[in-house]
Amino acid sequence: MLKEAARVREERVAQVCRPVGAEAIAALMNDMSKLGEDEICVICLSAPRQCGFVHAGITHSIVCRPCSKAIPPGSPCPLCRQHVEEIVDIPEGQTET
Ligand SMILES: [Zn+2]
Ligand SMILES: [Zn+2]
Repeated sequence: MLKEAARVREERVAQVCRPVGAEAIAALMNDMSKLGEDEICVICLSAPRQCGFVHAGITHSIVCRPCSKAIPPGSPCPLCRQHVEEIVDIPEGQTET
């Protein structure tokens, strides 16, 4: 998974660094749209996931950093309703749930 993410990022950088044409921009936008719902914050639905909720030994990495501030420890996880014990940052490239 990590290798795949790194490869995709390299491709994006290569696309941006090339002389920019309409086609390159369209290709980049298409690539970005492949992020999909699995990598978008479940609260604001507009930012990439950057933080996770830790509870009962598992982490649900489902929100962006600003939205994580709306769910303090002790609140129910928006995904599974378990009480959140800790909020952690997701290392870049890891958005597994
Ligand atoms: Zn958010
Ligand atoms: Zn949860």
